Amino acid sequence: MKILVINAGSSSLKYQFINIDTKEVLAKGLCERIGIEGSKISQKAPGKEEYVCVSEMKDHGDAIKMVIDALTSDKYGVISKMDEIDAVGHRVVHGGEAFNESVVITKEVKKAIEDCCELAPLHNPANLIGIEACEKIMPNTPQVAVFDTAFHQTMPKEAYLYALPYEMYEKHKIRRYGFHGTSHKYVTQQAEKLMGKDISDLKIITLHLGNGSSITAVDGGKSIDTSMGFTPLAGVAMGTRCGDIDPAIVTFLMEKEGWDTEKVNAVMNKDSGVYGLSGLSSDFRDLANAKEEGNERASLALDKFIYTVRQFVGAYSVAMGGVDGLVFTAGIGENDAMVREEVCKNLEYLGVELDKELNNTARGKGECFINKEGSKVKVMVIPTNEELMIALDTAKLV
Ligand code: ADP
Repeated sequence: MKILVINAGSSSLKYQFINIDTKEVLAKGLCERIGIEGSKISQKAPGKEEYVCVSEMKDHGDAIKMVIDALTSDKYGVISKMDEIDAVGHRVVHGGEAFNESVVITKEVKKAIEDCCELAPLHNPANLIGIEACEKIMPNTPQVAVFDTAFHQTMPKEAYLYALPYEMYEKHKIRRYGFHGTSHKYVTQQAEKLMGKDISDLKIITLHLGNGSSITAVDGGKSIDTSMGFTPLAGVAMGTRCGDIDPAIVTFLMEKEGWDTEKVNAVMNKDSGVYGLSGLSSDFRDLANAKEEGNERASLALDKFIYTVRQFVGAYSVAMGGVDGLVFTAGIGENDAMVREEVCKNLEYLGVELDKELNNTARGKGECFINKEGSKVKVMVIPTNEELMIALDTAKLV
């Protein structure tokens, strides 16, 4: 079975075409500047020349047509006709409380996704446009929605409710939703295989550390708490997002600086995190280099990131009454040995014993253990693969 995975943004559309039987990526590509002058598609397929084409795409419908042309091209493509696409899996950012798993898209599903637009105004409308464009061009191909929030729908009420007046939850759906669910679910499933135990017996903390970072407590295969909240701004200090701060700071800053809601949102999302603290970069490689050269604020930014990550490891080991495995994933989690070492430092009391040699040589090895032999808690690096997870869910449903 061959699945097309679509991740539609407001002016871009990323895709992967995956053979489910071999788990092989047959082709992957990106449409950029949709609806803007200079739109372009690029596609890479193993064994084929890279395809780049600058051509007008006035909307997502045009982009999908370009994707199908690229996939079926004689020279650059991997299939001969559109019918070879068995199903399409769409990444949808927000499923609210309506979806606790992936679903085949129907009229009712689209309505429910639309209802969640208020909760994810930058993402859900674009995801819907991507779905509708595919429906129009491939009316006989099943479409599936896979939600970033679905995996976290198992959280208990005390974890997902904020201590605000209860009516704010009823009236405005204000609660913790959590994000990166597809990634947390994927690495959880892989950890189960790697550890060779039944997931129902395992307490795992999954650490998705990338540009945006989130940490999840997975007890018996279910998310019972996660660090992101009502929006992806909450939790650990991130590349440019502030993570958890005292909420009173928001109104204080609005008064002191004369900022409106737009400005304060922009500062917390784009000018904060390790970038804001260091004044230098949101990229951990730049920060590590600057720290090496004696830059104190780069060093402080890294310390703050690590400190906030460790706070969640502590909180979640208490929430689950213990921990059997720590899983590092995403750009930083997969590549940054220093961050992993610092996060695991002095956690012997929890049963975490990191093997420094294994940790330092983990890069490029794929899925592996980096704990010492005999460590009560297994520490793993598991490269995430959200596209494969979307394709697997899609294949299962169709
Ligand atoms: P996104 O949230 O955009 O998907 P990624 O998971 O790709 O983010 O992570 C991107 C981040 O990973 C970069 O900003 C960078 O800080 C970090 N990163 C990537 N490669 C390395 C590396 N070799 N060493 C340290 N950090 C890295």
